[in-house]
Amino acid sequence: MSPVFDHITLPQRVLFGSGRAAKSLAAEVVRLDAHRVMTIASQREAPVADAITKPVHVAVRHHDVAPHVPIAKAEKASAVAREHRIDLLVCIGGGSSTGLAKAVALTTGLPIIAIPTTYAGSEATNVWGITESGRKTTGVDDKVMPVTVIYDADLTVSLPVELSIASGLNAIAHCIDAMWAPRADPINRTLAAEAIRALAAGLPAVKHDPHGLAGREQALYGAYLSAVAFASAGSGLHHKICHVLGGAYDLPHAQTHAVVLPYVLAFNAPAAPEAESRIAAAFGTDTALAGLDALRTALDAPRALKDYGLAEQNIAEAAGLILPAIPASNPRPVTTADLEELLHAAYAGSTAAR
Ligand code: NAD
Repeated sequence: MSPVFDHITLPQRVLFGSGRAAKSLAAEVVRLDAHRVMTIASQREAPVADAITKPVHVAVRHHDVAPHVPIAKAEKASAVAREHRIDLLVCIGGGSSTGLAKAVALTTGLPIIAIPTTYAGSEATNVWGITESGRKTTGVDDKVMPVTVIYDADLTVSLPVELSIASGLNAIAHCIDAMWAPRADPINRTLAAEAIRALAAGLPAVKHDPHGLAGREQALYGAYLSAVAFASAGSGLHHKICHVLGGAYDLPHAQTHAVVLPYVLAFNAPAAPEAESRIAAAFGTDTALAGLDALRTALDAPRALKDYGLAEQNIAEAAGLILPAIPASNPRPVTTADLEELLHAAYAGSTAAR
C-alpha cells in the first residue's frame, strides 16, 4: 500500500447502547430543534418504530417501504414530507427504510436520524439508491448522510436468525470489498478488518442465542464499522455484481451478498496479497477464503442464487451489465467469461475455489 492517500471521514453522531433508543431519540429531536417528525418504517418494522417513538411527537408515520427504493415510492414519500411540512426524518428498520429516507432527503434536504434494525449499514454512508424500470441508480451526496445513528441491539432481536445471518454477511461483504475498492487506504482497511473480527465473533453468537444481546451488540458494532469502511473505500467488484443482480432481477439484497461473496474472494484474493493477509488475520485463519468458508459453514449461510430467484438464462445478460461497472482498482482484470463463470458457480452454489 502506497503511503500517499487522501482519506475523508464523514461527520455523524453515533449513539450506541442496548435499551437506549427511545431516550436517545427524544434527546436528539430536542438537540436538532425538530417539531415536525416523519417516521419511515415498513409495516413489519412498525411495532419497533412505535415502541421507541412513544416519547416523541410524530407528525406522520410512513409505512410504504419496498426493497431497492422504487422511484414511485420515493416520490410519494417526498410528497408526504412536503405536505406535512416535515423538518426531521426518522427511519427505523433495515436498509430499505433507510434508503427511502435517503431518497426523501435527496430531494428535500431534510436531516435524517437513522435507527437501524439490520446489519446492512446504509445508515453510515452518504450513498443513495433508487430503482426505475428495473435499473438501480446509485449516487453519493452528503445530504443523505444521517446526522445521527442510534444503535440499540434490543431492536434487532426480532430480526429472524436467517435474515440476521444474511445481513451480517452483507456487512462482511462491505469489509472484504473495501480491501480492493477504488479508495482503499490503510485507515478504511483497518476499520474493515476490525469489523470482520467483530462480525465473525458476533454472528455465531446470534445464531446460538438469537434473543441474547452480546452477539447482536458485536454484530451491530461490526456492521457500523463495515459501513464506514465501505463509504470511505467505495464499491468494488463484489458490490458491482450484487447491485446489478438486485436492481435488474429483484433478488433479495442481503442473501445475494451472502451467496456471491466467497466467489469474489476466491477470484480476487490470489491477486491481492495484502487484502488476503488482512482478511485471514481478522478471521484468525491461514487464508481469507478458509476463514470465510468456516464462518459460512458455522452459520449455515445462504448458498446458491438459484434459491433466491436468479434464472440461469439471465446470467449472460447480467455479466454484460456488470462488466462496464468494474472499477479499475480491481486487483486482477475481469472478462465477461470470468463473470459468467463466477455467476454460474454462485447460481449453482458450487464450491468457491481459488
Ligand atoms: P430490508 O431493509 O429490506 O430488510 C429485510 C427485511 O427485514 C424486511 O422485510 C424488513 O421489514 C425486515 N426487518 C428489518 N428489521 C427487522 C426487525 N428488527 N425485526 C423483524 N423484521 C425486520 O433489507 P436490508 O438488507 O436491511 O437492506 C437492503 C437495502 O439496503 C437494499 O436496498 C440495499 O441496496 C440498501 N443498502 C444501501 C446501502 C448504502 O450505503 N446506500 C448500504 C447497504 C444496503
